[in-house]
Amino acid sequence: MDDGSLRSFEGYRVRHDDTRGPTKGGIRFHPQVHLGEVKALAFWMTCKCAVAGIPFGGGKGGIIVNPKELSRMELERLSRGFVQQLADFIGPDTDIPAPDVYTNSMIMGWMMDEYSTIQRQRTPDVITGKPIPLGGSLGRDDATGRGAYYCIKELERFNNWTRGNVRVAVQGFGNAGQHVARLLHKDGYRCVAISDSKGAIYREDGIDIPRAIELKQSQTSISNVYDERSVCDCPECGCVDCHCKSNDAGSGAVITNEQLLELDVDVLIPAALENQITGENASRITAPYIVEVANGPTTTEADNILKELGATVVPDILANAGGVTVSYFEWTQNRAGYYWSEKKVQERLQRIMAQEFEAVHDLSVEAEIDMRTAAYAHALNRIGEAMESQGTSRYFNSVMKVT
Ligand code: GLU
Repeated sequence: MDDGSLRSFEGYRVRHDDTRGPTKGGIRFHPQVHLGEVKALAFWMTCKCAVAGIPFGGGKGGIIVNPKELSRMELERLSRGFVQQLADFIGPDTDIPAPDVYTNSMIMGWMMDEYSTIQRQRTPDVITGKPIPLGGSLGRDDATGRGAYYCIKELERFNNWTRGNVRVAVQGFGNAGQHVARLLHKDGYRCVAISDSKGAIYREDGIDIPRAIELKQSQTSISNVYDERSVCDCPECGCVDCHCKSNDAGSGAVITNEQLLELDVDVLIPAALENQITGENASRITAPYIVEVANGPTTTEADNILKELGATVVPDILANAGGVTVSYFEWTQNRAGYYWSEKKVQERLQRIMAQEFEAVHDLSVEAEIDMRTAAYAHALNRIGEAMESQGTSRYFNSVMKVT
């Protein structure tokens, strides 16, 4: 630590399945990280990469830490220390980390640099989501939000929506939540509610999203890695002068994250953490469309309730696959040593998202199943094909052991 004391932090890296390629998935820094969570997130990555049709398996990592309590130097030492411990398990052809909750391109840059130092050779393809000067890809920054936006454009196409009439609520205003809200706002959608860990704001005639982003980021100084301000400080809702710090969701009000989920909106976008829509609150959710930008925001119990209510859930393994898809683009650019324009990245991302959305949607209609089940079926078909193509040696060996 900066004061010379020593603290140790517990961290994990889980590799779930590498049938379709090296394992791939982010590293999160969060006080609630635990092994079971990281295992589940690694499993979701296996399925997500298969849904997107990109040649990776699934992995995930995390450190139990509240990164907001660390100085920038402490954060860098922690990031480098984690790579020192992981160096024998990660690599461009084995396991490729990336950003996740509370990690960003700066942290990925430190990690890549540390790994390259250990390997005694520059290895940009060991990690994705890096800063552009260190081999990051244009368009990686907003890729998760953009991928979800392309899914919503497909919903728009299937349902003939008039954008100005579609009311959206976004829970979570981190990287993914900010970008999906920004793109929807720019496109004429009405974002009536947004939130972060400190609370939510609601405004019936729509929130000025670029202004909210500007305000949220306005106090991130060079020594601070994380935004200090909250969406609740946003004058757009009238609450800085504080007429509205009440729980009454009138025109321009501060509400709670729980209230945001239950708002009468057309599209609900959980973009924060897991287990937000639960058996307890699912029956009060009225949004007919739920687009899961976070990983695992809906519990199994809640999912069954939403099904009964007739809600359409665009599942996480499809809706947030844009991030890892552009990570794949970054990895291929690193390996080729040839870099693409932002337009090319966005066009290729759009093509994959639209194609896989349609495949999942068609399967759900044909098989009369919900989109989550269809997305898993789509993923398992691809994983199954890869397993079959590997031949029979594993089967043969297991038979040999039994007999
Ligand atoms: N953390 C992101 C996810 O959950 C991105 C992973 C990656 O780019 O490898 O999909």
